[in-house]
Amino acid sequence: MASTLTDRLSRLVKTMRGQSRISETNVQDMLREVRMALLEADVALPVVRDFIARVKDKALGQEVVASLTPGQVLVSIVHKELAATMGEGVADLNLATQPPAVILMSGLQGSGKTTTTAKLAKHLIEKRKKKVLTVSADVYRPAAIEQLKTVTKQAGAEWFPSTPDQKPRDIALAALDHARRHYFDVLLVDTAGRLAIDEALMAEIKDLHAAINPVETLFVVDAMQGQDAINTARAFKEALPLTGVVLTKTDGDSRGGAALSVRQVAGAPIKFAGVSEKIDGLEVFDAERHAGRVLGMGDIVALVEEVQKGVDMEAAQKLAEKVKSGASFDLNDFLSQISQMKKMGGLSSLMDKLPTELAAKAGQADMDKAERDVRRMEGIINSMTQLERRKPELIKASRKRRIAAGAGVQVQDVNRLLNQFEQMQTMMKKMKGGGLMKMMKRMGG
Ligand code: GDP
Repeated sequence: MASTLTDRLSRLVKTMRGQSRISETNVQDMLREVRMALLEADVALPVVRDFIARVKDKALGQEVVASLTPGQVLVSIVHKELAATMGEGVADLNLATQPPAVILMSGLQGSGKTTTTAKLAKHLIEKRKKKVLTVSADVYRPAAIEQLKTVTKQAGAEWFPSTPDQKPRDIALAALDHARRHYFDVLLVDTAGRLAIDEALMAEIKDLHAAINPVETLFVVDAMQGQDAINTARAFKEALPLTGVVLTKTDGDSRGGAALSVRQVAGAPIKFAGVSEKIDGLEVFDAERHAGRVLGMGDIVALVEEVQKGVDMEAAQKLAEKVKSGASFDLNDFLSQISQMKKMGGLSSLMDKLPTELAAKAGQADMDKAERDVRRMEGIINSMTQLERRKPELIKASRKRRIAAGAGVQVQDVNRLLNQFEQMQTMMKKMKGGGLMKMMKRMGG
């Protein structure tokens, strides 16, 4: 989905650039694109329907700030709803129980269960200062027991031995007993997974669940599995009272649709995301960030919010009207544009929020210089009298020297500013519209 949804949305943002309001028609157009993109990305149909309904609800009647296009506002709504669909805030593990807190790992073979068990052990040791024990109840694959032993050691946790001739239930109970007697805070129970759902497997894990009564029952699912992930989630949800999902292999997840459906289908929040094969490749799942990644549009939401709070709407409006009415654009207007830019967090912070390809073109060194230039320009205009600001043509050599001295710059800096102002003035005449607004639209669109 990362590429398709992004492509569709950015195309849409472009086509909507000329429109000033969010209307029934342009919302419909956008929702059609989003719907297609989500379905292509393997998001389950009921999830898509629900999602579309919520976006529509939020979008209609939304005020569009003059410096943003309806397309940009819609993208930010889509982003927020994407995040809301995948969960709100950050959900860490619940360990609020008499220790040891038992965590049961469920999921298909190859989903990344064993790796995730070790990653979680490391997370609990390092981030939550817990004493952690792991055990494997996978009696079908001796190699799986050995694998857990190896990765547990890497995680710095302790491993409880088990053998293929034991019953999974007995293994888990023995480990629990050991954990109690040796004051472990957490017991992680890795389980057997088959390549596909089967009855015997489900019965076994249900029995295991009943025996050890875990405080967390995590469903581990490979993000690259698409629609299959949804079917698997449904089957596990029917068998077990899931408390959380771990979405693995998000580093290779090209479409991202799984994350959208899985939360709803599993009926539990996504708590962690696997981001690499390495033992430290686990992140607490952050829905906002994942939504941003799915959109792949840089932090466009932050940009939108910044513009909304930063721009003095009244001033921007006045300026736009002034230019439209053909009144002259003077240095006061120029100053007002410069200070609006600054209010929006400065050029480089705006650049940070743009999609990476765009930001890369700009380059940090250029940005730092641009910010210094903006501050200098402001200083120069502030050293001018009101008359000079309204009639820049009055500014001849002696006035230039006075202004330069007042602003602590060289006369050539004053000249450069006057040149830039002249260029801007010419551009404004050509545009006959809100200069800053158009500029912003071009940046975002
Ligand atoms: P299990 O059969 O469910 O226990 O799965 P494993 O833990 O053995 O993992 C299966 C494969 O997926 C292994 O090669 C892991 O290294 C790999 N893997 C697990 N999690 C991740 C992840 O988040 N990112 C990547 N790239 N690989 C992962």
